[in-house]
Amino acid sequence: MSSNLDDMYREIILDHFRSPRGKKEVDRADISSDGQNPSCGDELSLQVEMDHDVLKDVHVSCRGCAISVASASMLAETIKGKSFEEVKALAETVKKMLKGEPTELPDDLGDIEALQGVRQFPVRIKCALLAWVTLVEGMKSYENGHAGHTTVSTEDGNGKTEK
Ligand code: ZN
Repeated sequence: MSSNLDDMYREIILDHFRSPRGKKEVDRADISSDGQNPSCGDELSLQVEMDHDVLKDVHVSCRGCAISVASASMLAETIKGKSFEEVKALAETVKKMLKGEPTELPDDLGDIEALQGVRQFPVRIKCALLAWVTLVEGMKSYENGHAGHTTVSTEDGNGKTEK
């Protein structure tokens, strides 16, 4: 990877860190999920308003390192207006991209592409994954008809739901 690309990725990540997207509260939190990444101390809280199977609006608040905040901000920017299936597929793509597994990156990945730079720092991968794991677990519990709160920890590397 050229250092120019590294610089570009760093700029994008810092931009999201300085002015995170998705700060506005949602009108109705159909999905509510909290995530923690104990290895770094990142904490995140996420709410989604659903419109049938579309994620109509999303609110994320994240306290943590630049990578976790930037990743949460990119998530908020990208998933709005997408369907459940689209978001699940996207989360899977991001996971594979971060873990360096072969995957086809869609053209409309936008700023999320910058998270590729995180691969060089394995301890930071959990930071970048936090928002995505938290969202996916929240979506699963919504699908299973559990309203209420989901809490996720990335301690085991994949995230688990505590009920
Ligand atoms: Zn972190």
